[in-house]
Amino acid sequence: MVIGMSRNTKKSERKGGKKGAGNMDEIARTIFAPIYPVIAKNILDRFGIASGVCLDIGSGPASLAIAIARQSDLMVIALDYDDEMQEAALRNITDAGLAGRIDLLCGDVHAIPLPDDSVDLIISRGSMFFWEDIPTAFREIYRVLKPGAKTCIGGGFGNKELFASVSAAMIRKYPEWEEKNKERMSAGNVARFREMLEETGIPHYEIIFGEEGFWIVLSKSEPGALAHREESEEIR
Ligand code: SAM
Repeated sequence: MVIGMSRNTKKSERKGGKKGAGNMDEIARTIFAPIYPVIAKNILDRFGIASGVCLDIGSGPASLAIAIARQSDLMVIALDYDDEMQEAALRNITDAGLAGRIDLLCGDVHAIPLPDDSVDLIISRGSMFFWEDIPTAFREIYRVLKPGAKTCIGGGFGNKELFASVSAAMIRKYPEWEEKNKERMSAGNVARFREMLEETGIPHYEIIFGEEGFWIVLSKSEPGALAHREESEEIR
């Protein structure tokens, strides 16, 4: 089911388009296919959150959303701002027989069309590298997170063996991918994300940096959104 539409980025300004969506769908259904069930299991085992609402941000063809729905009782919302990606997602969700478990939501991470404190688990793979304003995106993510909920947001391949086999296949097909991926997964990029997270004022976060990728885990203890930076500085 498509549960909403909210776009604040002009389509012409976005990367990808029809060709991008078709490519990502093909990669997700072939070379990347084995990583999603492993990433889903890692997330569910790590956090022990197996019911409630899970939001997959930048869900693309919905492969991770599908893997999470298969392995848990979570209701999944697959959020993406690209309607061609959402068309591919709808096909994949229908083929998987999961139309009653995964809702499609067309929207931008910088203005998530969901209420405060409404989501039990937020996941996102391979999307944050495209976000234009990381502090704004993470403030939005924090806002919709329920107290006690967690996020697992980043880029990764499940484990180091999968990383090796997927990388080899990607480099054979798209040689330019190697450099791009190396840069995304570098310690320097992790440090850049850490700096941007500091800017948000989010009180509790952790970055898991391993051999298969890196993931940002936010935890929330108080309900509501973050106090606006300038306002809180004025109060001090
Ligand atoms: N998560 C999927 C996966 O791992 O198979 C897709 C990853 S694909 C590389 C990145 C996705 O993020 C695309 O579907 C793109 O449309 C989406 N995306 C990028 N920026 C976004 C934004 N600001 N808001 C919502 N979705 C976004």
